Amino acid sequence: MGQVRGTGKRVWVRRLALAVVLLGGWLASGSQARAVPGVRHVIVVSVDGLRPDVLRAAAAPNVAALMGVGSWTLSARTVNPSVTLPAHCSMLSGVTPQVHGVTRNDWSPGDGALGVSTAFSIARQYGLVCAAFVSKPKLRALAPQGVCDVFEVVPSDARAVAARAAAYIERRRPNLCFVHLSDVDSAGHSAGWGSAAQVAACGQCDAAIGLLLGAAHRAQIATESVMIVTSDHGGHGRGHGGTSVADVTIPWVCAGRGVAVRYAIPTPVSVCDTAAVALFGLGIARPADWTGRVVPGLFPGY
Ligand SMILES: [Zn+2]
Repeated sequence: MGQVRGTGKRVWVRRLALAVVLLGGWLASGSQARAVPGVRHVIVVSVDGLRPDVLRAAAAPNVAALMGVGSWTLSARTVNPSVTLPAHCSMLSGVTPQVHGVTRNDWSPGDGALGVSTAFSIARQYGLVCAAFVSKPKLRALAPQGVCDVFEVVPSDARAVAARAAAYIERRRPNLCFVHLSDVDSAGHSAGWGSAAQVAACGQCDAAIGLLLGAAHRAQIATESVMIVTSDHGGHGRGHGGTSVADVTIPWVCAGRGVAVRYAIPTPVSVCDTAAVALFGLGIARPADWTGRVVPGLFPGY
């Protein structure tokens, strides 16, 4: 991974670090609140098809900075089948494909949306503003119409998707914002997993993440935000979908207010945990029957 540089893009990250310090003082005073104090926004970024070694090889200063002030593992696991739609359904619903029932990787509007509760639908029940910006139309399956205040398909590159999301973050300050970037997956299918083209695509996704960080800073929500960066699957050759280590291993990075600093997560992390962590960050307990749970040690004191 590229060396972290002291650019303006790191301001958001530095503010997160400050929030962590301030929060530590509050916890030391004996607060017993279950909700992580002060967290009002969670941004989940899925870099489609990102295998951890590709992230390591890329110039990805923004993700590196998040890892530097947050918690991370490069050996998280996705679900079976390790394909886009089932895995994203698990990422947002906290349950495996065997439970949510989406095992195929195609979708048409007539199929309707996911039939189980998701981080979106639960956050909505609490009156929170939810937003999604995705680059593949099939991800519309993640939310029935009306659950998200905006659910936008931007069939373009990472910069274009992130620009739309960034503008919305600045304008509406959503509580839960999901952003899906498909460049790495596209490069994998065309040039191969681990190829130079895919590594370069990862760098472009990192730059897109920088746009989101900048937007959070300009919206003045950086110190009350948590960001998760993860993926739906890895891959090998020019495909994915199986149960090989290359296909199922994904990075999982989380940073922000209340999140453990420089914490290399030693325990197994599932893509399903993403929804549970997102809700927990917003002060909402996960449904008891979810597979996904809050990663132990991620929020010190909780
Ligand atoms: Zn995918």
